[in-house]
Formats: sequence, structure tokens, C-alpha cells
Amino acid sequence: MFWNEKAECMSKEEKEELQLKRLQETVKLAYENVEFYKKRFDEIGLKPEDIKTLKDIEKIPFTTKTDLRQAYPLGLLAVPREEIVEVHASSGTTGKPTVTAYTQNDLDIWGECIARGLKMAGAEEDYIIQNAYGYGLFTGGFGIHHGGNRMGAITIPISAGNTQRQLDTMVDFQSDILTCTPSYAAYLGESLEKSGISLDDINLKAGIHGAEMWTSELRDRIETSLGIKTHNIYGLTEVMGPGVAQECDCQNGMHIQDDHFYPEIINPETGETIEHGERGELVLTSLTKTGMPILRFRTKDLTALMDDECECGRTTIRMDRITGRSDDMLKIKGVMVFPSQIEKALLRVTGASPNYMIHVTRPDILDEVEVKVEASKELFFDEMKEMEKVEKQIQASIRSETGIRVDVTICEPESLPRSEGKAVRVIDERDFE
Ligand code: ZN
Repeated sequence: MFWNEKAECMSKEEKEELQLKRLQETVKLAYENVEFYKKRFDEIGLKPEDIKTLKDIEKIPFTTKTDLRQAYPLGLLAVPREEIVEVHASSGTTGKPTVTAYTQNDLDIWGECIARGLKMAGAEEDYIIQNAYGYGLFTGGFGIHHGGNRMGAITIPISAGNTQRQLDTMVDFQSDILTCTPSYAAYLGESLEKSGISLDDINLKAGIHGAEMWTSELRDRIETSLGIKTHNIYGLTEVMGPGVAQECDCQNGMHIQDDHFYPEIINPETGETIEHGERGELVLTSLTKTGMPILRFRTKDLTALMDDECECGRTTIRMDRITGRSDDMLKIKGVMVFPSQIEKALLRVTGASPNYMIHVTRPDILDEVEVKVEASKELFFDEMKEMEKVEKQIQASIRSETGIRVDVTICEPESLPRSEGKAVRVIDERDFE
């Protein structure tokens, strides 16, 4: 039932003692070996010995994505180069990529965290894991792969894309677990329905999906179309990759592997630490990484920590699903809107598919938003009048969710671009100069 019962079901006292010991070791390692951290500490007169309690972590300055970019590619190593065995990097779509380097110790920890998650999804050693996360610099593919190896399960490194081959593999190998982004899982679900393969022909039991935001409405669609139970997984390249946290069968928040990562929630505006249960920006500190330890990394992801007991018996602290990023919050006509709110609103309407694109423009002085939504297959063959009705329903639903009026256009099934990595949902063409 647990991959590592001792680590996952520790008492609070035992956990905090371990976290403090590991935090002190990590701070010392970073201070003594990474110029960047030494400089940051010296600037404010902070010494590793000043970290006497877990609360003292708040004295440490934040690390941001900009800091990592400035250290590109390998400026933050805490060990000699010969100890590094693998590197990964973020896509770099909004600037220089951020790179993470792993020692063998770090890869072992990564594998351990993923193995715990695979077990949460019910995996056993004879399970077949169809790993449809992209392999490459992106952390998804290799992260799951290391975990599958650690567990001793059978990992199929099919990577993302080639949908027909994905379906054939599900049937031929009778894959037990599917791992991929939620948008690709939804697409595979759709494709399965279309291909005429029935749920009886496949043997999927669970899915592990993350790397992009998704709503419970999208979860329902994936679970129904593939006949599986889905598990939300969280992680980010800058900190390790997927596996920092994952949902158990209770689907009630993601268990953070908090013997390896120390989470805090801060107010994104003021940087102040806020209490468990309240929403804010997640900040993570690695507790065991040796290649590139990271102190108080501002993830920009908005969530809340949940420290009530989970029915599964694990005592690791949980985080709620990500509802947005402090930097992808769209400000439209002065109103804060998250793409996830729009997804939630449109999936309430029958006839809408989970494939959508939000287009923000400012043709004159006012923001205009167009939401393009693919029609479900059934809808498209109905009358024009029916489509207009659905457009109005989606418009009303988005208005009640966000308070703003948007234009809605229903388009043909499969006319919007599909993504095999992270889905691009927002095109913001406003000129902010
Ligand atoms: Zn649980």
C-alpha cells in the first residue's frame, strides 16, 4: 500500500526533526559551495548557524527563476562537475531555459519520489507503465522513467505523440498505468472513443497527470473516456521535476514528499509567510539534493497547504490543486482571471469539448477576449441554431465564473492545435509598452 511507509507515515515530531536536520545540512552545503548563495547570505549577514529552527527558514532570501537564468547553464552547482550525471531544462519559452543538474544521489531521490507516487496509483512490480510524457530535456519522461525503474515495474518509454501507436500499445501490452499531461490524456480518451476500441479491450487502471493546470471537470472527462482513476502530480524542473507531490487514491490534495522538499506558502505581493489552509504562492526548499540544492524557490504556483489527516494513512503534508500562477493571471478589463476559471466554466456546458484557446487583444483601448471552443462531435452535426445556443450558454457560464464578458466561438472538432507537451491555452496579443 505504501512504497516507503517509514517516510510517508512519520509522526509530526519525527518529521520536523528530520526536516530541520536536513535543512541545516542543505543550507551549509549551499553556503559553502555555491557563490550565489554565499553572496546572498553575506549581504544580509546571515550565517548557516543562524538556522536553528524550521521557522528560521524565513530569514533566507528567496530564489527566483531570474536567479537561475542568470546562472545558466551550470552556475549553481554545489559539487564538482564530475559528480553530475544528468541535466534537464525548462522549455525556455519566455527567456533562457533554467537548468537543473543531478548527482546520482539526486536521481535516486527522484526515482524514490516517483515510486511513492506510482504506488499511490496502485502500481505493483509487474505493472506496465505507458509513459507518454515527452522524453528529452523536459523532466516528465525521464522522471517517471527513473521511478518506474526504481520500483521495478515495466516502463514503456513511448514518449508523447503518435496517438495511433499509443492506442495500439494500450491494447497490445495491456498497459496498467498511463502517464502524460492531462491535455494529452483527454486527447487520447477522445481518440480511443473515435477509433472504436472499447474500454473492454484495454486494461488501464490509473493515470498520473501533471505538468499543466487542469480542473476537476477535465478530470471527469479523462476518467470516463479512459475508464481510469486519475492522480494529479506536481513538480517543476527548477526543483527536481515531477514527483515533488502527488495525489493518493483519496484525490484530496497532493502529498508533498516533505522529507525531501520543505514547502511554504507566501503572500505573492509581500513575500510574507502565510498560514496553512490559506491560498498563496508555493515556495519550495530542497532538503536532500546535492547537485543543485535550492533554497526558498518561488514557484509562482498558487495553492494552499493542507495539514489535516488524509484517509490513506500518509502523514505527509498535502497541497491543493494549482489554480493559477501568480504570473499567468490575466488582467482583463482590470479583473483578475485565470485560464483555469474559463476551463471550469466552459466544461459545465454540454456540447463543449475540453479543447479551447483564449485569445486576448486590445484593438483600441479596451481588452477583448475571444474564447474558441471545439464543439463536441455530437454537437457539430446538429443545427446552427443549436451551436449558437451553446455559445450563449458558455458565454453566460464564463461570465458568472469570472465576471467578465467574452466572445465565444464554437469551432469544428479537432480544429484547434493539439499539444503533446504542455498545452498552450492563452494567446495574449496586447501591447503593454
Ligand atoms: Zn492520502
